[in-house]
Amino acid sequence: MIRVNENYLKLKASYLFSDIAKRVSEFEKKNPDKEIIRLGIGDVTLPLPPACIVAFHKAVDDMASEKTFRGYGPEQGYDFLREKIAEFDYRSRGTTISADEIFVSDGAKCDTGNIQELFADEIVIAVPDPVYPVYVDTNVMAGRTGENRDDRYQGLVYLDSTESNGFVPDLPGEKVDLIYLCFPNNPTGAIATKEDLAKWVRYARDNRALILYDAAYESFIRDDSIPRTIYEIDGADEVALEFRSFSKTAGFTGTRCAFTVVPKKCRVYTEKGEEVPLHQLWLRRQTTKFNGVSYPVQRAAEAVYSDEGRKQVRELGDYYLENAANIRNGMSTIGFSCSGGVNSPYIWINGGRDSWAFFDMLLEKACVVCTPGSGFGKCGQGYVRISAFNSHENVERALDRIAKAIK
Ligand code: PLP
Repeated sequence: MIRVNENYLKLKASYLFSDIAKRVSEFEKKNPDKEIIRLGIGDVTLPLPPACIVAFHKAVDDMASEKTFRGYGPEQGYDFLREKIAEFDYRSRGTTISADEIFVSDGAKCDTGNIQELFADEIVIAVPDPVYPVYVDTNVMAGRTGENRDDRYQGLVYLDSTESNGFVPDLPGEKVDLIYLCFPNNPTGAIATKEDLAKWVRYARDNRALILYDAAYESFIRDDSIPRTIYEIDGADEVALEFRSFSKTAGFTGTRCAFTVVPKKCRVYTEKGEEVPLHQLWLRRQTTKFNGVSYPVQRAAEAVYSDEGRKQVRELGDYYLENAANIRNGMSTIGFSCSGGVNSPYIWINGGRDSWAFFDMLLEKACVVCTPGSGFGKCGQGYVRISAFNSHENVERALDRIAKAIK
């Protein structure tokens, strides 16, 4: 008898975004003449930067000639891309991360989901609440939690991110081994200062814990006093991995390219307390289970770091940040308490009622789709997330409609 991995049966019945899609499609069926503006799911709307397109085309041409054709590439990524990442994302910020500590992949979702394979079953895991669901669900699938009761999985330590701590969680009251952090945060849009991150790095060092730092939205940081990478904190390279993505940075959500930094100094421990370098384990995992990212895609990603590419990527981010500022201002003006939306593409809005009730109201009265905060965890109840990934025109129209609906 082929038996199921029963951990999958513990997963909450449906995925947030399929619930949203269902409600939106029912609304569309009932109201075929109404035009919906989507500010829900965090997908980008602008095309790839022109520098990436040129490099992409050229790399496709390379594949047409025997001299320049590439077959299987290195699973960790081509050196041409890893070198650029190390130079522009890390050395330029005064950190010592080197190219061979960078693992190019097809997504921060896959990497943040797969990394848990390297850790023992019995570890204590801390996740933020609200949370990017991948951190939780992949640990549920792996059997590191009990059942879901009252919207929380037994066995996980939840780090409440609320208005009272500015959506930057406090250190846990109990000892944890693995800590997921995400800044700029999805869904709250919160930012961590150097002091905030230093506190977590100190905790991890004191407790031989590991931080999984998801910096998928790093490119939206404009304030230079905010750390762009956790490695700006002294000692973080011994206790933290960092996940980055070209998805939101450069419009690669459909093209697929990301990377994970696994510093050589990072250690995990056997039951007896012997040290094992994490870099070696991730290399082993990736070379066994992953084929690498296609050559043309890595060339397109490399172009992000060219002179024109850097300028175009910045403009891309600025475009969405202008939306974010307008959404935050617009929603505040009509009386909602908002956070995020500065150095971040997400605005976290206290709707003053049940998250789904607010979602339904916006859909029915304004034909605007947002994301109910409760879908990201218990602490998200009462909030909705509005995303800045849309055109200026649509954001303006959406805000106009919401203002009218609220009156
Ligand atoms: N991490 C966070 C916090 C995200 O919000 C997302 C995408 O929405 C990802 C990772 C996934 O990024 P990628 O497209 O590289 O898989």
